[in-house]
Amino acid sequence: MANVKPKVDAVIVGMGWTGAILAKELTDAGLNVVALERGADRDTQPDFAYPKAIDELEGSVHRRFLQGLNQETVTIRHTSADTAVPYRQIGSFKPGTGVGGAGTHWSGCHFRPLPEDMNFRSNVEQRFGKKFIADDMTIEDFPISYDDLEPHLDMFERVCGTAGRAGKINGVIQPGGNPFEGSRTRDYPLGPNPEYLGAEMFHKGAKEMGWHSYPIPTSNASGPYTNPYGCQMGPCNACGFCSDYGCINYSKASPNACILPVLRQRGNFELRANSQVLKVNLDSTKKKATGVTYLDAQGREVEQPADLVLLCAFQLYNVHLMLVSGIGTPYDPVSNTGTIGRNYSYQNLNRVVLFYDKDVQANQFIGIGGAGATMDDLNGNQLDNGKLGFVGGGLVWARQPGAGPVRGINVPAGTPNWGSKWKQAVADNFRHSFYFEVQGACMSYRQNYLSLDPTYKDAFGRPLLRMTFDWQQNEIKASQFFVDQALKMGRTLNPLSILGDAKKDGEHYNITKYQSTHTCGGATMGSNPATSALNRYLQSWDVSNVFAIGANAFPQNNGYNPTGLVGGLAYWAATAIREKYLKNPGPMVQA
Ligand SMILES: Cc1cc2nc3c(=O)[nH]c(=O)nc-3n(C[C@H](O)[C@H](O)[C@H](O)COP(=O)(O)OP(=O)(O)OC[C@H]3O[C@@H](n4cnc5c(N)ncnc54)[C@H](O)[C@@H]3O)c2cc1C
Ligand code: SF4
Repeated sequence: MANVKPKVDAVIVGMGWTGAILAKELTDAGLNVVALERGADRDTQPDFAYPKAIDELEGSVHRRFLQGLNQETVTIRHTSADTAVPYRQIGSFKPGTGVGGAGTHWSGCHFRPLPEDMNFRSNVEQRFGKKFIADDMTIEDFPISYDDLEPHLDMFERVCGTAGRAGKINGVIQPGGNPFEGSRTRDYPLGPNPEYLGAEMFHKGAKEMGWHSYPIPTSNASGPYTNPYGCQMGPCNACGFCSDYGCINYSKASPNACILPVLRQRGNFELRANSQVLKVNLDSTKKKATGVTYLDAQGREVEQPADLVLLCAFQLYNVHLMLVSGIGTPYDPVSNTGTIGRNYSYQNLNRVVLFYDKDVQANQFIGIGGAGATMDDLNGNQLDNGKLGFVGGGLVWARQPGAGPVRGINVPAGTPNWGSKWKQAVADNFRHSFYFEVQGACMSYRQNYLSLDPTYKDAFGRPLLRMTFDWQQNEIKASQFFVDQALKMGRTLNPLSILGDAKKDGEHYNITKYQSTHTCGGATMGSNPATSALNRYLQSWDVSNVFAIGANAFPQNNGYNPTGLVGGLAYWAATAIREKYLKNPGPMVQA
């Protein structure tokens, strides 16, 4: 029988970016908050202290800071006619665990959405007609605009000490920034990070192509900074151990460095690490949550009653918890009804590598997770999709997060995968090559969805989350176009040789190859409860004291990395809870 804890005002599942933001905002409002995190507690000191954090074998092979897949994972298949099998080894995406979540080992690229990303479906319909959207493409508008979100996107940038160069402030274009961005009320809190050779070359190539390059906005501090919560960050030293690792230097924004120092001192906040939440408990009406049940560090079942339940467990696990708890109706792709699991999408990522002779010193071992150069000339309304025949835009960028022998060193085409010729190619190219990444949007489709697996269970006896996903012709076509553009630009820079990995016609999603942890959708926000799980405040349409915060809310994946929008949405939802919900608990939007 479960041990029952005293009731609290709010229980938060997961202590990554969204959990930390909600905990800060709700404890500010005077609520008693308990946060349950399935992984261990950790902090910069001692967990990421030099030199032990700087270990590629531990970080990038043994995946010390990522979720172990032995207790809980997902099953994956390409189509509903296939049998899904468990994801047993980290490959395509890397869910986080432990205090800070994936927010400790992310890279730091910190984008805002474009205004047209927020009214995506209407914008495509307006520009190219309703028939341009295929029948199986289930793309939607977000139910809020860029202007609604702007103050919250700004707040997240302040908390993260984001380094960048504004492109448009109060409608006025700024030199050197992104002229296509949505208007912002003020500049980034810090100026851009220094550039390395790949980024310099990117600016040169972009100019040749007539593109408007700008520094990637990045939450790797370019100088000393104190955020609005009083948390200090030090300038990044370009150590090259950002992605997959916690920052040794208090330079990369993370919940641990930027929010938890404040939360940990609060009497109305309690963090319980090693607490695996199994389900959200509902009352007999199934319209109200009474709290959650979790396993504590000793493996005992504990019930935590609460007035508010905030799912902050990362996109995939928010959807899983909703499905196993019976919140909302599971999506059925045959009848195209139900909302939990609907509109799953991923990121369309490809790479172009440029090899030079020994006069060109790219020094890939130097790196800053998010920093580099990019451009939006092929994104949003800049792209003539009608002419190109696919929906969605994308970016090309030069980013140098740090390369090493274990994480992989690029070698030219034709090099064997092992042996003395491979070793020679590594020695010849390590310091004399760099790459551009091509990151495209990914649409949502009726046939790509999340559901409960009928066969496989996790260590706690719950059905695993099943992912049914494959690349569709639209994304393959887009990948070929963007890679072709990146190759054209690369050739203007006169490399000795150049490699591009566009998706081939009919190519399937490959779960063994890392492609980004930008998994989206499955419990989306919308204006219509028949097609969305959450209303505009990320509140469940079905159980009004449950909120699901994260990229699960995106109706489709836009061309950017998701966390800027995830953080903005977390502040937007927290503001609605503080200013509206607490005064009048219940549905904030009438269905
Ligand atoms: C290597 C890497 C690089 C990345 N780089 C970028 C980048 O440059 N830019 C960008 O925008 N995004 C990037 N991302 C993605 C980014 O990390 C996520 O978008 C962001 O962390 C999501 O925040 P979140 O709060 O939704 O989830 P998380 O930060 O993952 O936090 C969720 C927490 O919930 C916990 N949890 C899950 N289930 C349960 C449960 N049942 N009970 C209790 N706790 C639970 C998890 O353990 C985890 O700690 C990257 C991700 C990775 C892995
Ligand atoms: S590159 Fe900079 S931000 Fe990243 S881990 Fe190293 S010091 Fe921290």
